Amino acid sequence: HADIAMYRGKQTGRNNFQFYTPAMNEQALERLRIEGDLRSALDNNEFLLHYQPKVDLASGRIVGSEALIRWQHPQLGMVSPARFIGLAEETGLILPIGAWVLRTACVQCRRWQLDGHDDISVSVNLSVGQFLQKDLVISIADVLEDTGLPPASLELELTESLMMTDVEHAIGILTGLKELGVRLSIDDFGTGYSSLAYLKRFPIDVLKIDRSFVRDITIDADDAAITASIISLARHLKLRVIAEGVETDEQLDYLRHYGCDEIQGYLFSPPVPAEKFEQLLRQERAVV
Ligand code: C2E
Ligand code: MG
Ligand code: MG
Ligand code: MG
Repeated sequence: HADIAMYRGKQTGRNNFQFYTPAMNEQALERLRIEGDLRSALDNNEFLLHYQPKVDLASGRIVGSEALIRWQHPQLGMVSPARFIGLAEETGLILPIGAWVLRTACVQCRRWQLDGHDDISVSVNLSVGQFLQKDLVISIADVLEDTGLPPASLELELTESLMMTDVEHAIGILTGLKELGVRLSIDDFGTGYSSLAYLKRFPIDVLKIDRSFVRDITIDADDAAITASIISLARHLKLRVIAEGVETDEQLDYLRHYGCDEIQGYLFSPPVPAEKFEQLLRQERAVV
């Protein structure tokens, strides 16, 4: 049947020769199905948030949490964000989904604070579509007011590419967000295409070293050099710096040695449901 599909491909393709295989058909079907189901997922309460601890290396304590979306699909089971965030962006569904994430994360963080964990903060990932939304600053101000979460307890994680789509516009939005008092972080730092010149123009607070550099710091001299340089850059610019994807004690030792402020990764904990996160918070001892 692959031959017939290929033949059809030749007939429909003009100069470019395309191969259609049953596997590609399945992929396209899966995509269509996920897209259809994504539309009703919010109404059906199929989304949930997991939280991953951010650990401060000076105190050894949990100081923050990153909210990461999960989709409990009725047939497919747990669907990872890698499989649906892009699609949500393309379809515009990211706006209601992102608004749900923001509100849910703020409510949760405020609850932890009222439970006695006063200093805990929460980070939320923002997508391009959300970032370019006209009333972003106002809608975030509303969520903070409704939930009672102090603005300084909310951190927004933005990628370089998101800020680089329209630099002047981005600086305007970032400035508005800073005026609200929320913290801003550059996620996956070092993998995007921003230039260092913009680092001093963007009013950001935190650099988050991408997992792809952290992974091999103990075996690859280039990754080690890049990571040490990002830490040093952050310190000189008076920004905080956090490493993501920390899985081993050797990576932790390296990061500590070079003066990284915080770590996040499986070494301490994967993203976990809110109840599990509370248990981690209740363990009063230092964790690393
Ligand atoms: P990200 O913001 O860079 O989040 C970090 C990802 O690394 C998470 O994957 C996390 O589970 C994973 N991770 C953390 N520690 C380790 C580790 O030690 N080892 C390894 N191998 N992985 C680790 P996840 O949850 O699958 O999310 C993937 C991406 O999806 C996120 O990357 C973010 O870009 C996006 N995403 C997740 N939730 C949201 C959301 O609510 N809104 C938006 N717009 N994007 C989201
Ligand atoms: Mg992130
Ligand atoms: Mg990353
Ligand atoms: Mg990241």
